[in-house]
Amino acid sequence: MSTKYVYFFGDGQADGDATMKSLLGGKGANLAEMVKIGLPVPAGFTLTTEVCTYYYANNRTFPPELKQQVLDALKKVEKSMGAEFGSATNPLLFSCRSGARESMPGMMDTVLNIGLNDTTVVALAKQTGNERSAWDSYRRFVQMYGDVVLELKPKDKTEGDPFEVALEHKREKAGVKEDSQLSVAQLKELVAEFKQLIKTRAGKDFPTDPMEQVWGAIGAVFGSWMNDRAMVYRRTYGIPHEWGTAANVQAMVFGNLGDDCATGVGLTRDCALGTPGFCGDYLINAQGEDVVAGIRTPKRIEETLSKDMPESYNQLNDIGKKLEKHYKEVQDIEFTIQRGKVYMLQTRNAKRTGFAAVRIAVDLVNEGLITEREALQKRRIPADDLSQLLQPIFDPAAKAAATKEGRFLAKGINAGPGAASGVICLFADEAEKFHEKNPTIDIVLVRKETSPEDLRGMKAAKGILTATGGASSHAALVSRQMGKACIVGCSAIDVDYSTNTVKVAGKTLKAGDFISMDGFTGEVFEGKVQTKASEVIQVLVQKTLKAEESETFRRYSQLMGWVDKYRKLRVRTNADTPGQADEAVAFGAEGIGLCRTEHMFFDHLDEIRHMIVCETKETREKALAKLLPFQRADFAGLFRSMNGRPVTIRLLDPPLHEFLSDRHLEEQPDLGQKLASWTGSTIEAVKRRVGELHEANPMLGHRGCRLGIVYPEITAMQARAIFEAAVLVKKEGISVVPEVMVPLAGFLTEYKNQEKIIRDTADAVFKESGVKLEYLVGTMIEVPRAAVRADQIASAAEFFSFGTNDLTQTTLAISRDDYGPFIGFYRENDIIPNDPFQTIDQEGVGELMKMGVDRGRSSRPDLKIGICGEHGGDPASVMFCHDIGLNYVSCSPRRVPIARLAAAQEALAAGK
Ligand code: PEP
Ligand code: MG
Repeated sequence: MSTKYVYFFGDGQADGDATMKSLLGGKGANLAEMVKIGLPVPAGFTLTTEVCTYYYANNRTFPPELKQQVLDALKKVEKSMGAEFGSATNPLLFSCRSGARESMPGMMDTVLNIGLNDTTVVALAKQTGNERSAWDSYRRFVQMYGDVVLELKPKDKTEGDPFEVALEHKREKAGVKEDSQLSVAQLKELVAEFKQLIKTRAGKDFPTDPMEQVWGAIGAVFGSWMNDRAMVYRRTYGIPHEWGTAANVQAMVFGNLGDDCATGVGLTRDCALGTPGFCGDYLINAQGEDVVAGIRTPKRIEETLSKDMPESYNQLNDIGKKLEKHYKEVQDIEFTIQRGKVYMLQTRNAKRTGFAAVRIAVDLVNEGLITEREALQKRRIPADDLSQLLQPIFDPAAKAAATKEGRFLAKGINAGPGAASGVICLFADEAEKFHEKNPTIDIVLVRKETSPEDLRGMKAAKGILTATGGASSHAALVSRQMGKACIVGCSAIDVDYSTNTVKVAGKTLKAGDFISMDGFTGEVFEGKVQTKASEVIQVLVQKTLKAEESETFRRYSQLMGWVDKYRKLRVRTNADTPGQADEAVAFGAEGIGLCRTEHMFFDHLDEIRHMIVCETKETREKALAKLLPFQRADFAGLFRSMNGRPVTIRLLDPPLHEFLSDRHLEEQPDLGQKLASWTGSTIEAVKRRVGELHEANPMLGHRGCRLGIVYPEITAMQARAIFEAAVLVKKEGISVVPEVMVPLAGFLTEYKNQEKIIRDTADAVFKESGVKLEYLVGTMIEVPRAAVRADQIASAAEFFSFGTNDLTQTTLAISRDDYGPFIGFYRENDIIPNDPFQTIDQEGVGELMKMGVDRGRSSRPDLKIGICGEHGGDPASVMFCHDIGLNYVSCSPRRVPIARLAAAQEALAAGK
């Protein structure tokens, strides 16, 4: 039996239904479904996505059996519509539209009014009693056919669209502003001019044979699957190129026969904010593309349609309700009103903002349309979109205006969600001073890259923009943790510290000029773009708004209640200060999964530098003794904030020269002298020591547990600070559960070396204080060897936490700090599907993680395993962590709700 390539719909029956999206595309499947539930849909047929696959696999040709199947379906449509394709007395016209499995709005092509020629146009005029609209349709058809099928485009950048140019001339000559004011005679002239244009430009006649027209349109629609726009869109939204599109050939109905006709696009509820009520755009006496093309300003359905066309409005309102009930989801519809009768041309689940997604999902449950479980479905609320409820965002209209005004500057890696508008500041210390003086003026810190030195400036800034670095670079992870908007790897910006300027997009911006950055998308704009504050933050963190005063918060809170009911994964946070910990707890964090102790030294940089330049164990111990009280106080603060929740504290990790290098000595002229006097040596000795610390490849250098192994006194000081703080806080009546974590171990011996120091120190502190408490010692799994030998390591380690930033870096041999310059090219050219530092490379790094879990639990079945790399807040990665059986994920405070939602979504999807 030959393959069925063509599916008919019409007359209350359809070959397909809504479940067949992969074969019929979203549009085709829903047209069939609407017919089946009794809605008014003009008859038509769908050519399946398999035709598209065949088309590309066979040098852009169609399967041999397709022709007959199309002819058969066409006859059925003729019968259903009571008209004949190409008839000189009673002509039927078609539209041909694309429709992929997932909607790709506006990315592919459409041809309307197929079947018109010099004969059928006359018949159409007679039949509809409207000569003007018949010729207007013909004019549109020749234009669309020329543009879409025959690909008549401007010859160069300076030339306008040839058809639009001709149309404009005609309007000018006629002395009218709008196409709708052109007379029949002028439309006839235009048709002739358009045909001539086709002949001279394409070298062939406009086809008058309706069958040739329909095949031309079908070919163009399938051809548009591979146009540049469509490919870029698919890359952005992760739609596979292999899917292919379907093509829908459907009988035309007319919205342009007079004032009792209209065409429009509607939503069954508002999708920007989620407010209930049928809304959208419509135009009286027009055809579909007029609404979307923006040639005429449409009217608002919710404002005037009930007055303009009360009966049609009621019909549409009823259809909207029926569709929402049937699909259990907000619908985005296209319709035409022909002589007062409503026809449905499309329905699909509506795209919405994160705000709207939450409101709609919660409202649908409260209205009894869906269950809590359904509300949590990934397609209803992509977990990432939840961040829109937490971060200030750009007012969408203000952003669109900025783009229109030519203020778009560049795009980088969107590393920290949120919107920020502020004055440019290139130096961290200046940012700090400026902020102290003018706390009401927001700052955007623009740097080539950032280092621990810049932290104060980062704190003072609303947003951080760097020319280099990736999603897990220092700038990105610190700013995420602080909840700042952040864009990194924005290679188009040229930061010139000597002139205090930033060159980008042919412009030179000075420090103090305004700049705006959208951390959700990575876009940077010149000047100010208006932002909006988040109510959820006001209620939970700032406590400036009462829960009952915020509808947004109430819905958020209801949703998160369901989330916690269904998720299995625990969610912790990466936090280094009590402030961050408090914020994370407000967002639902159940513990700290990573406290990076080196970040705690940001406020005591000179003290740690003192320790670094020491050349002997004795002097180093003295320097460490100065750090101990700071560390102890910091840990005690964290334990208090977490109030009995587990706190994982990682021992010192970074290459020491991040804290002290030639650059630091140069930038702070008195630093060398200060360190020399503290250590009782000379500036020369300090410089020599700094020289020794320099590493060509610091990420693979003397960092992680290698530091604590070579300088055991550092580990001993940190362990002492942890246990003394724990004892102190326990004495205050607060329960404490410390988990001490060893970084970057690859060998069991490395781990054991550090474990011994930690346990010996714990025993000493317990003995001294007379207080004992439970604690765990475990390790990060962040080098491939640790995953491979997880069985050995787990024989000693009580818990694992995947450090996927380093595990990705070491598995892929891609430096996490400077992959910016090529990652964009890789993504553009489909070399890799995602940024591996944002979303776990499941097939590579993920396999190592699975191995780590399996082998680790083979020697310690109840091994607690988490993840604390930046991936712990990425929804796809969180879902993967659920699937491979981790106990928890840990992420920056503001990603905690996102991770909670993603965990619930995967638990529900996996049915466990
Ligand atoms: C990691 O490598 O994933 C990790 C959490 O450690 P850091 O980012 O501090 O190297
Ligand atoms: Mg690491």
